[in-house]
Amino acid sequence: MTEAQPPAPRHVKCPSCGRPSLYAPENRFRPFCSERCKLHDLGAWANESFRLASPEDPGLDAGSAS
Ligand SMILES: [Zn+2]
Repeated sequence: MTEAQPPAPRHVKCPSCGRPSLYAPENRFRPFCSERCKLHDLGAWANESFRLASPEDPGLDAGSAS
């Protein structure tokens, strides 16, 4: 019989900050290491494509919707 081995944690390099991030279902932001890095990366290309004149992004401010 084969011994059941736990799956080794897989880490990838975070595309945003370069730190090792956990590449597993429990990491919702994979391959990024955190939500901040994911949003930062998305915001990066968003700013490249859509450079608007709005100083702030409306809609992200009100976060109490529960
Ligand atoms: Zn990161």
